[in-house]
Amino acid sequence: MKIFQILYLLFSVIILGYTSKVKSNETKLNRQYITVLGIAQDAGFPQIGCDKECCKAFYLGEEPKKLISSLGLVDLQNQKKYIFDATPDFTQQVHDLKTNHLDNGHVIDGVFLTHAHIGHYTGLMYLGFEAMSAKDIPVYTMPQMKTYLETNGPWSQLVSMKNIQIKKLKNDSTIVLDSNLKVTPFLVPHRDEYSETVGYKIEGQNKSALFIPDINKWQLWERDIVEEVKNVDYAFIDATFFKDGEIPRPMKDIPHPFIVETIKLFENESIETKSKIHFIHLNHTNPALKENHPLKDSILNLGFHFAKQGAKFSLD
Ligand SMILES: [Zn+2]
Ligand SMILES: [Zn+2]
Ligand SMILES: [Zn+2]
Repeated sequence: MKIFQILYLLFSVIILGYTSKVKSNETKLNRQYITVLGIAQDAGFPQIGCDKECCKAFYLGEEPKKLISSLGLVDLQNQKKYIFDATPDFTQQVHDLKTNHLDNGHVIDGVFLTHAHIGHYTGLMYLGFEAMSAKDIPVYTMPQMKTYLETNGPWSQLVSMKNIQIKKLKNDSTIVLDSNLKVTPFLVPHRDEYSETVGYKIEGQNKSALFIPDINKWQLWERDIVEEVKNVDYAFIDATFFKDGEIPRPMKDIPHPFIVETIKLFENESIETKSKIHFIHLNHTNPALKENHPLKDSILNLGFHFAKQGAKFSLD
């Protein structure tokens, strides 16, 4: 064999090996991922009755509508899709999952609820008799939330008519959706009028995420949020208000970590840690809810992120 033939053969083998490697990496990527389905606080954006600049911007066509805080968990490997919280925008968010991510013939393969505040569970009503009359949709809830749904109309009808099938969660106890996909609820301090409140840890094959849409001040939590963020790849956390005085109501009655408090807590941490944070659950008054705002830029410049509807985060 002539030398150039040998060289050609060698070259072909290398190229072939390289392209097949790239291909296998490509197909492996994004088999299991999280997608952001909404970013606003419970009452959404625009908020009912608000005549201030924040919501006026929507009616003037300057700002798009923002759906209520929710995450989708898409498992293309097993053809399953889950949703974290059933918001008043549930219809649209389920449609988003179907059309942009996975149409597997199911409305949803599981709903994980954080707590009984309006932005987090009332979307369940669309599964009921007056709506699509769904059959046995698995709804994962903590014990008090389960009792609340079972013993109060109209939610109890979803249970008695078997539109939903409640799956009981336990604090710090992991649900295995697939050997590579696990979900763990953990209790967080919040205004628990009707139910306890949990955040979730979502673990994929190689990456993991935290979802804490509602919590009182970080200091009231028995865990250290800085350490918790370091232990995951993405952290979707409560950013309801930007700072104190943002709304004309006593803000101590509705405690949340202000964005300015969270960034102060992380000020000495590395860019790598800061960049794991994706602020979510923003009130209509929060300037960072706008598509663009100088205050938002100042936070982005520090390395933090804001959750954006449609964004995807691989767990592979
Ligand atoms: Zn909320
Ligand atoms: Zn407003
Ligand atoms: Zn809440």
